[in-house]
Amino acid sequence: MKILEMNHIKKSFGNNQVLKDISFSVDEGEVVSIIGPSGSGKSTLLRCATFLETMDDGSLSYVGDEVVKSVNGHAVYGSKQQQRKALSYFGLVFQNFNLFPHFTVMKNITDAPIRIQKRNVEEVNAQARKLLSQMGLSDKEDAYPSQLSGGQQQRVSIARALALNPKILFFDEPTSALDPELTLEILKVIKDLAAQRMTMVIVTHEMTFAHDVSNRMIFMDKGVIVENGTPDELFHSSNSRTQSFLGKYH
Ligand code: ADP
Ligand code: MG
Repeated sequence: MKILEMNHIKKSFGNNQVLKDISFSVDEGEVVSIIGPSGSGKSTLLRCATFLETMDDGSLSYVGDEVVKSVNGHAVYGSKQQQRKALSYFGLVFQNFNLFPHFTVMKNITDAPIRIQKRNVEEVNAQARKLLSQMGLSDKEDAYPSQLSGGQQQRVSIARALALNPKILFFDEPTSALDPELTLEILKVIKDLAAQRMTMVIVTHEMTFAHDVSNRMIFMDKGVIVENGTPDELFHSSNSRTQSFLGKYH
């Protein structure tokens, strides 16, 4: 089953066309990494997929529900209700954690499931505690984000995303604000999620990690998908742009 399908996505900022006809899809249980130079459009693509940015043209479906249609060269968004439903399909983890500074760890995780998803408080609290234990943060329930290391904050933000029971999790450079030791800690969490068959799309510069954790890798450059294949296909690509980009990481 396709969890996410994006077709012919176009997006410009002024006369800078940042996404030039991008199409890709993600199957249930797949881990897809997106790599590419800074400015190639990776974040914009994730932001379009998660409604943080509107696309100019193209179509977008979650679990077969088409939320955005392409009509006469323009993206037409579905009703508020359709968009709300689509929001419930994904979770998002940012580079800079984006936790609420004035909420405890527990409240950061439980606020949206209780207030927005209107789920049972006891059930949500129990799930949050289980997630915190999985993340090795059981003793941090009542801490505030400022009292945690970057790696701990990022683990809370992953727990927060998981508490929404998403069908797909997006990561935008989840380790680029962390030093190497804390980076490894987060990469391990993502590997564990992959082992549990969580469907994920990960924008990352951690090439060895991406190679090891992904079923598929996408190389983006200047707003286009240059390659979309298995990690080994990408690492043994004959494409000179791919080779030159990956060469910088060897
Ligand atoms: P990446 O994540 O691959 O580094 P981005 O998607 O952040 O790339 O950016 C792609 C291009 O879009 C860059 O040229 C960037 O300056 C431009 N861009 C991104 N967001 C905005 C914005 N809100 N307004 C104007 N230009 C933007
Ligand atoms: Mg980016």
